[in-house]
Amino acid sequence: MRLSATILFGAVIISLIVCTVMAKRSRKPIGNWVSFLLCGLTLPVVGNLILVVSRNRILSDIGFYFYFLGLDVAIYALLHFTLTYCEIGWRSKVLRYTVYSLWIIDVIQYIVNPFFHQAYSSEAVILDGSPYYRLIPHLGQTYHRALDYGVLLVIFFIYDYKIRKTPRIHRDKYVVIFASLMISALVETYYIFSRRPVDMSMIAFAVFGFLVFYFALYYRPLRLLDRMLAGVVSDMPEAIFFFDNAKRCIWSNNPGIALTGIEGGKFEDARVKLDDIFGEIDYENTGWCKKLVIGTGDDARHYYIENTPTMDENLNITGFSILVRDNTQYQRDLMKEMYNATHDGLTGLYTREYLYECIEKKLQSDADTNYLILYIDIVNFNIVNDVFGRQFGDHVLYKVSDYLKNSKADNLLYGRLGGHTFGAMVEKSQFNQEAMEEKLINLTVKDENLEHHIVVHIGVYEVNPEDETDVTLMFDSARLATSRMKEDTPIHIVYYDDIIRDEIVYDQLISNQLQLAIDERQIRPYLQPIVNNKGELEGAEALVRWIHPDDGFLSPAAFIPVFEKNGLIADVDRYMWRCACEILADWKKRNIHKFISINISPKDFYFMDVVDEIEKLVDEFGIQPEKLRIEITETVMMTDADDRLQIIKDLRDYGFIVEMDDFGSGYSSLNLLKDMPVDVLKIDMHFLNDSNENERASKIVKNIINMSGDLGIASLTEGVETRDQYAQLADMGCLLFQGYYFSRPVPVDEFEHDWLRRRGGVGL
Ligand code: C2E
Ligand code: CA
Ligand code: CA
Repeated sequence: MRLSATILFGAVIISLIVCTVMAKRSRKPIGNWVSFLLCGLTLPVVGNLILVVSRNRILSDIGFYFYFLGLDVAIYALLHFTLTYCEIGWRSKVLRYTVYSLWIIDVIQYIVNPFFHQAYSSEAVILDGSPYYRLIPHLGQTYHRALDYGVLLVIFFIYDYKIRKTPRIHRDKYVVIFASLMISALVETYYIFSRRPVDMSMIAFAVFGFLVFYFALYYRPLRLLDRMLAGVVSDMPEAIFFFDNAKRCIWSNNPGIALTGIEGGKFEDARVKLDDIFGEIDYENTGWCKKLVIGTGDDARHYYIENTPTMDENLNITGFSILVRDNTQYQRDLMKEMYNATHDGLTGLYTREYLYECIEKKLQSDADTNYLILYIDIVNFNIVNDVFGRQFGDHVLYKVSDYLKNSKADNLLYGRLGGHTFGAMVEKSQFNQEAMEEKLINLTVKDENLEHHIVVHIGVYEVNPEDETDVTLMFDSARLATSRMKEDTPIHIVYYDDIIRDEIVYDQLISNQLQLAIDERQIRPYLQPIVNNKGELEGAEALVRWIHPDDGFLSPAAFIPVFEKNGLIADVDRYMWRCACEILADWKKRNIHKFISINISPKDFYFMDVVDEIEKLVDEFGIQPEKLRIEITETVMMTDADDRLQIIKDLRDYGFIVEMDDFGSGYSSLNLLKDMPVDVLKIDMHFLNDSNENERASKIVKNIINMSGDLGIASLTEGVETRDQYAQLADMGCLLFQGYYFSRPVPVDEFEHDWLRRRGGVGL
């Protein structure tokens, strides 16, 4: 008995030590606790080994110590291992330190046992012919057992809780440990109560240790892995079919079943069904992939098919898999993305970039044909948008794009370049300028409520066969051609040619010369008198003139539009306003109480704080604000109406008299007047004269004068050229007059000579 127990315990101890070292070396985080637990389990076995080999009391006592204290260490390690393994922490510090204290008491009572014998004593029995010291437990031993059983019970609860909370697949590893621990505890209990001399329950403890070692460190639930793999494959978006070496389908995932419509797990039918859908599939060769399109047009479906061989560990082919991916949605999204990137959202025409790309390709592939590049601009589109609303503005854009879409010209490429501009390239032989002009003259846009005549300008750049100009530059040139067109011109189509090029160069030239011209006073104000209905002088309008050293006398029409485009107008106006203030300051000194009107370009508002600028000037020159009248045009109000209204109010609050210039041109509406707090309305006669319907014109003027009178706004008619007009207008109630009939705009000294010194007037 002794010998066999010695051998058995020895073997168990060696195995436990080996496992302890292996667990320590394992890289898993739980490894440390496993190795500690195995070490703890080794100690009681060592104790029992000592008891088995010992033949005297002292050695047996050492055995008992190993046994009892080792058991404490093992249970302590088991508790910590369990908490980590089951991912449960100590719920409270008090609990934790109470348990530790109970263990410390247990250790202490064993230490004092030799003096008080309160834990245990031993008695010698004869085993295999020699004395074997058997345990006689006392109260302390009961305490020790109660403590260790108590902790064991807690550990059982933890496993029980964990097993109930864990999904089935993962439960195994807890169940095994729970069960083996239970068996070890029962075996141990049996030995305690049976009082058999040699405690074979140690073997059960060791087996428990080995199970922990395996399950905590090496166990991989194979069933779980299989199920996981099958789950992943089943839920893949791709259809997948596995074939064996006989080229028979043995399994397919859910998308595969859905694709082929095989029923009741009859996977062998999949092959025929696949052939039905995709035509003959190559089952003879493995390791290929291809793309297939089934159907046409919008119904076309796009597939990707891949055949991959399957192999065992020795690289022998065991069959193959066929994977089918339905790329239809991806392909549609891609097409949509492409479409969105290359087409304008509103009109569906090509975007600028895409149009340029297409034109470039076309020109490269077809170098012999003569083409025209068209830059198509909707004039004053922003005003249409502001006045008639965005919806109507969109209608205008649709109208132009529909026109392009419906064109029958061959080889026509077209797109939307930006807000209100379109671009096209057409074969020269297909472009009929006269017919096009005809269409553009009568271009109107209607919706349910509105009908509006829209003005479209087309700039044309002719592409010569050997022309290497960049497409962007071609469109720039065509655009420049339109920019040369006057708004009220009856012509809508203009070619970019040498004249335009020269004009552009000239514009640049005068822009460069402007500063010097101001410094040298080549640019100066002319004054045009403004008289009352008795023909007496009331004031004058300051109009800019440029006496150019090379080109002679330049009228504002030659340079103001250029400077309005490039922003230099602000420099001209600032200078003109200063000149007007200088003259007024001089008049003030000479006791002349006439006013001067200055012009404000709508563009000035973009480049400076107009109110601040003018206020500073009158302060600087010490003149009364009402002597400097301010002419603004109604286009000023077309954008940012609220801001601009505030500007007018600010000017009037400061004491300036604000006049609305050119009333009768453009979009003038009496409605606008109602909201515009101006003092004077300047009615432009020569716009009305153009109409050649004098009677109608005079009725309109009469109405305007009456209405403005009702609104408390004084009227001034400009462009008065004949005595008749003057008489008629005076009759209608107009108060102020300006025009060639009285005088052309003249240099300041001439004005002073003719109008101030003479103090005369032009009578009726
Ligand atoms: P506007 O402000 O409407 O100026 C009146 C224009 O009508 C002047 O042309 C003037 O010479 C012309 N005019 C005066 N009486 C008659 C007449 O009886 N019959 C005809 N047919 N025309 C008459 P001008 O001086 O060529 O100026 C043209 C435009 O240039 C001005 O129109 C104004 O808009 C602009 N302008 C002139 N000076 C300045 C300036 O200093 N700054 C700004 N921003 N614009 C200016
Ligand atoms: Ca004016
Ligand atoms: Ca005017």
